Amino acid sequence: MNTRTFLYLGVLFVASAARAEKLSLVGGTVINPADGKVFKNDILVIDGERIAGWRKDTTVPTGSKPIDCKGKFILPGYIDTHIHFFQSADLFTRPDGADLNSVRPYKDEVAWIKSHLNDVFARYIRCGITSVVDVGGPMWNFEVRKTANSTAKAPRVAVAGPLISSVSREKLDLGDPPIVKIDTPDQARDFVRKLAAQNPDLVKIWYIVDKDHPVDSFRPIVRATVEESHAHKIRVAVHATELETARAAVEEGADILVHSVVDKPVDDAFVKLLKDRHIILCPTLVVFERYGRTFSHQLNLTPEERAWGNPEVIASLDVTKIPQDKLPDRIKNALAKPDEALDRIKKTYDVALPNLKKLEDAGVTIAAGTDAGNIGTIHGPALFREFQLMKEAGLTPMQILQCATVNAAKLFGGETGAHIGKIDNGYLADLVILKSNPVDDIAHASDIDSVIKNGVLYTSSALTNDLAGR
Ligand SMILES: [Zn+2]
Repeated sequence: MNTRTFLYLGVLFVASAARAEKLSLVGGTVINPADGKVFKNDILVIDGERIAGWRKDTTVPTGSKPIDCKGKFILPGYIDTHIHFFQSADLFTRPDGADLNSVRPYKDEVAWIKSHLNDVFARYIRCGITSVVDVGGPMWNFEVRKTANSTAKAPRVAVAGPLISSVSREKLDLGDPPIVKIDTPDQARDFVRKLAAQNPDLVKIWYIVDKDHPVDSFRPIVRATVEESHAHKIRVAVHATELETARAAVEEGADILVHSVVDKPVDDAFVKLLKDRHIILCPTLVVFERYGRTFSHQLNLTPEERAWGNPEVIASLDVTKIPQDKLPDRIKNALAKPDEALDRIKKTYDVALPNLKKLEDAGVTIAAGTDAGNIGTIHGPALFREFQLMKEAGLTPMQILQCATVNAAKLFGGETGAHIGKIDNGYLADLVILKSNPVDDIAHASDIDSVIKNGVLYTSSALTNDLAGR
């Protein structure tokens, strides 16, 4: 062999190191939330990037590498259907909510976010989250999707572009704003056409209602946005947290509702409307506690968040480290009255949790999502806090797993969405392997042994070692 051939083979070897091969997952318990079935002691066969079925016998197919999964639990990789890559989850990431520009300029924050995308990707994979939906951000979101989809240790990414909004958020506008105020139906149509050129997975509407912005004043813009999006075969997701806003959004043709209804109990007509229109609802329960808890210095990060969240982000969330004279009023007030912050969170959950239970029981498609990236909602492990809250709402572990896999895949949508979230022949080999049974207790969903993304297996310890700041 001459030197040149030797070098060539060396390059080939390096290039194939992260490439999928034939794997046989032997002796594990396969949990498939799509049909609620649990198979014991099978061999699950993976061929390249795809699942190639399971076998009842114990013979490992020739040419495939056996992976011992005895005593372990195999399920589809989790999908977080509501995150924002343009937000880091640190204290400085939403100057429109808490202006701390005098402590850390927002442009520095954005630069940090852009330089830490690979770290965010790695944290999702560490948590067994093999796909995410970014439900709105600047135009550079489309670049993030491209980067993630060509990175091995990254989740699959679906994105919406900038939010079509009833209110403006100047403090977030550094030239490529994540939120764009739209004033007329014609403006909405123009903007959707501009977005359509980027091939978005969703168009997102920020339907913010208050005394200056009543439900009906923005309704024609919602209608125009939906019509134009549907004409381009793009689905529309609407942020709507009040019952009447959510109802108006669905009546105008929205496909997806993001966040829960938090102002009053959902009524039977609303439940029927969601069912008749095949709406997917993403509750994002965790985000409702995190602003208030962060600002009042009562943040309740879970062990998973402390272990797998970015340490710089987590360190920033201690508001007592900010000089008094630089604290915005919103944080000062929360610190002065911490009980009121908790009380507001409780009031929100007193409505949101029973609403989730009612919608789930009625058969509305619920997709799990966190709104990660917002202050205190940690990219990656926030999903396990979301699971706890879904459990508090009364959902069973299997229902929660359905929300985070098969239902979430429907929200993800497209060709990819049609091939994730299930363990079945021809589906993409995105799997999470657990050391304990999540059907017994959803807390076990984070007891991760290894993660398979696109047919490549990573042990949890190797994934942990990849995370920045370790
Ligand atoms: Zn959001």
